[in-house]
Amino acid sequence: IVAAAGAALLLGVTACGSPADAEAVGGDSLGLVGIAMPAKSLERWNKDGARVEGLLQDAGYDTDLQFADNQASQQVAQITHMLEQDLDALVVAAVDGSSLAPVLAEAKAKGVIVIAYDRLINGTGDVDYYATFDNYEVGKLQGRFIVEQLDLRAGTGPFNLEPFAGSPDDNNAKLFFSGAWDVLGQYVANGQLVVPSGKAPASNDDWASIGIEGWTSEAAQAELASRLESSYGSTKVDVVLSPNDSLALGITQALLAAGYTEGEGWPLITGQDADQINVENMVIGRQAMTVWKDTRTLADQAATMVTQALKGSKVTVNDEVTYNNGVKIVPTYQLPPVVVTKDSIKDTLLDSGFYKPEDVGL
Ligand code: BGC
Repeated sequence: IVAAAGAALLLGVTACGSPADAEAVGGDSLGLVGIAMPAKSLERWNKDGARVEGLLQDAGYDTDLQFADNQASQQVAQITHMLEQDLDALVVAAVDGSSLAPVLAEAKAKGVIVIAYDRLINGTGDVDYYATFDNYEVGKLQGRFIVEQLDLRAGTGPFNLEPFAGSPDDNNAKLFFSGAWDVLGQYVANGQLVVPSGKAPASNDDWASIGIEGWTSEAAQAELASRLESSYGSTKVDVVLSPNDSLALGITQALLAAGYTEGEGWPLITGQDADQINVENMVIGRQAMTVWKDTRTLADQAATMVTQALKGSKVTVNDEVTYNNGVKIVPTYQLPPVVVTKDSIKDTLLDSGFYKPEDVGL
């Protein structure tokens, strides 16, 4: 590994030329790790990428961190380029969970350890481990929050609900929706929740029909604007199931544009990621909750997996049943997601040092 890494380093400098690469030249590198993140446009991937990179560099590895602008082909090209260096391990948060099989076959042929990061990679035996949060639980937490806030168990309603789902190419999006719909579906069926737009998937398997391609705020905004325009008239939407914060942001913009104001009559909106602007929106009453996945713990776990695997130690996992990618059950380390509301921002996001009060308008 050390000899290979030396060559990789020289190549790395020519190819990337970043100060971090340059500093590593001449040092005793333990190997080269590629880190492929989906996009810079979403806050969390920047944090994930930076932390995985920092931890691995501290542990003595060289790194090549790339962001793919949400384009599957760009991510494949980036990984192909990484494989032209003497790569030892690859950490990938896939843009498209189904398009990496060929490039991972190349990785495997070169003996590279492959770790799926946050998103499962489907249809390949060439992924060794998976580090993630409990994705199904994320959806359940969103669904349960809605049930509790609307007191649905007491038979309340009907309430107008608009459900959203994440990007159809992201394996997580299906799990988020299933978790939420396993909780909410019964209230749609019994009429306590009504979906005026008609965009209620007939079953969990139909979730992609309401999936927002690329998880963009803009597409979510346009989608809600069109639902409000075509199906609402003088009625109001009471609750929006949003799988994450980038969609919640677009949903909030559509509501503001349609004349909704914070306070009485502002719908209940769910989210995920605890993105800074969304936490600010929670503080001013524009978003009811977010599901926080402390990216620091996920990055720590992925970096630990890399070092364990490259040192030939046993890789720590805590789930060997859940994540079947169609070819194999991928041994997984799964972390617990946490609900954050306005009232718990201090105990969770601030006390843990994830944000400072001034970051989020407190
Ligand atoms: C991640 C979420 C993120 C979404 C959009 C999902 O795979 O788990 O945390 O909000 O992608 O990038």
